[in-house]
Amino acid sequence: MVSFKKVQKAYGSLVVLDDLDLDVSAGEMVSIIGPSGSGKTTVLRMLMTLEKINGGVIYVDGKPLTHMEKNGKLVPASEKHLRARRSDIGMCFQHFNLFPHMTAIQNCMEGPVQVLGLSKAEARDRGEELLELVGMADKKDQHPSRLSGGQQQRVAIARALAMRPKVMLFDEVTSALDPEVIGEVTNVIRKLVSEHNLTMLMVTHQMGFARDISDRVCFFYGGKIEEQGPPAELFGNPKRERTQQFLSAVK
Ligand code: ATP
Repeated sequence: MVSFKKVQKAYGSLVVLDDLDLDVSAGEMVSIIGPSGSGKTTVLRMLMTLEKINGGVIYVDGKPLTHMEKNGKLVPASEKHLRARRSDIGMCFQHFNLFPHMTAIQNCMEGPVQVLGLSKAEARDRGEELLELVGMADKKDQHPSRLSGGQQQRVAIARALAMRPKVMLFDEVTSALDPEVIGEVTNVIRKLVSEHNLTMLMVTHQMGFARDISDRVCFFYGGKIEEQGPPAELFGNPKRERTQQFLSAVK
């Protein structure tokens, strides 16, 4: 579903992604862990087409994202191509960034009405279904300021899903939350994985969270995947010295 082929990204002389190869299958939940500055968030930003890559190609759903085909050749994508493909990807951040002047349901309706051209009635039906899914149906008419952090994050997840993305990205979604509400968000994500077969890519500093919900964990070091595997293997029996050092430091 998502494929990075020899992707390179540098800021000036700082190489952030170094010939990165990463494949995520449809319905797979992959977590990215690693030290600060290892390029984890950059991977998500590349998928959101927020920044250009310096080399390689990213594919989503079998089609190039960063490039388009012209006369049988791959050329860098135009702004129009990127705009059209962006709706394949949904993203939730550490700070939920809900529209503060809109209620939960209005937050969920905004994108489908403005970007996808749904009628308000269609967008409301879709939004209500998703707020139900994340356990927020009873708070649909509340503004974000009246909701807890965990509740706001669940609305943010529903809002992203309302765009029917093929891939969901989560960047530190539990970091800004109090420990007692992390479970709420974890349960919602787990439900999405088990019942909706969504493809997900997640960056986290919380090893327990990564261990709980991932099919595969990738340990990033220096813009590359140093080691990857099922959580039980990577956390229980890391093979590489850098992985061992990182895990013993964060435990
Ligand atoms: P953290 O765990 O601290 O969030 P990370 O692994 O997600 O780190 P990235 O945010 O992907 O790391 O950043 C990788 C490197 O790229 C860092 O050294 C960062 O300072 C640098 N970087 C990121 N964005 C920019 C930018 N817009 N301009 C210059 N350097 C940048």
